[in-house]
Amino acid sequence: MKVTEKAPAKINLSLDVLNKREDGFHEVKMVMTTIDLSDRIECEELPGDEIRIFSTASFVPEDQRNFAYQAADIIKSRYGIKRGVMISITKEIPVAAGLAGGSSDGAATIRALNRLWKLNMSQKEMLAVASMVGSDVAFCVKGGTALATGRGECVQPIPSPPPCWVVLAKPPVSVSTAEIYQGLCLERAPHPDVDAMIQAIKKQDFNKICRLLGNTLESVTLDRVPEISQIKSHMKRMGADGVLMSGSGPTVFGLTQYESRMQRLYNSLKGFCPHVYAVRLCGR
Ligand code: ATP
Repeated sequence: MKVTEKAPAKINLSLDVLNKREDGFHEVKMVMTTIDLSDRIECEELPGDEIRIFSTASFVPEDQRNFAYQAADIIKSRYGIKRGVMISITKEIPVAAGLAGGSSDGAATIRALNRLWKLNMSQKEMLAVASMVGSDVAFCVKGGTALATGRGECVQPIPSPPPCWVVLAKPPVSVSTAEIYQGLCLERAPHPDVDAMIQAIKKQDFNKICRLLGNTLESVTLDRVPEISQIKSHMKRMGADGVLMSGSGPTVFGLTQYESRMQRLYNSLKGFCPHVYAVRLCGR
């Protein structure tokens, strides 16, 4: 038997880092939303007891470092499953881009194995497994739009922003989330107003959402990847209503409600940047 799940990427509309905890993790407060750019996870039963990973993209580990592997491993030991599985990952989300591709693959694996092995997991159980895999995996289990706190694993659903286009551009470099956090100086970095963002979303005030876009990590990644400033200025010049770097970067996104502006942005970035996408917000 074979089960397939979509693993959508996310963007952060607001990302604040509050402090560094004694366990080494940072306490964050962020608004995340799902976008219509997805990997595809296919889980197929294998004879024996082994977890095997296949990915269509280079730079994605095909062993226990893969979040999909980790999710399967935790589920097998938690539920006493003695069966093998082949997990095939068709990557569309760029890797190490600030779009939670790996986390979403982990979350989609939890949903897929729940179906494949008929585990009847509650959402609470799925979230418990997700937080053992990684900070952003819990959000990816539910998707939609949410406020995430703690190290990112405490997820509270909120309404979704009004429909709009998201144009994404990733400069040809990857960044390590851990290194960006290490370079962060909390006193000097800007801190966005996450509560005001939630209010703007509840009021469906698109212009205010665009004005309030903010990310504490942006200044750190900007120092290492100068293309980010160039892409941001370019997107603003080409008519994006709001522009921000997602997660720890380096992907930059621009928002607009007009299809014509989306087309202009997309066309002007193609050729300038190797990875450009125009998608819809799909937070439920
Ligand atoms: P986040 O936004 O959550 O910080 P990201 O988008 O910056 O994540 P990912 O694409 O998730 O980054 O990749 C980060 C690292 O995770 C990669 O360098 C890779 O080694 C590892 N990884 C583990 N599993 C996966 C996976 N299924 N797909 C991609 N990368 C994976």
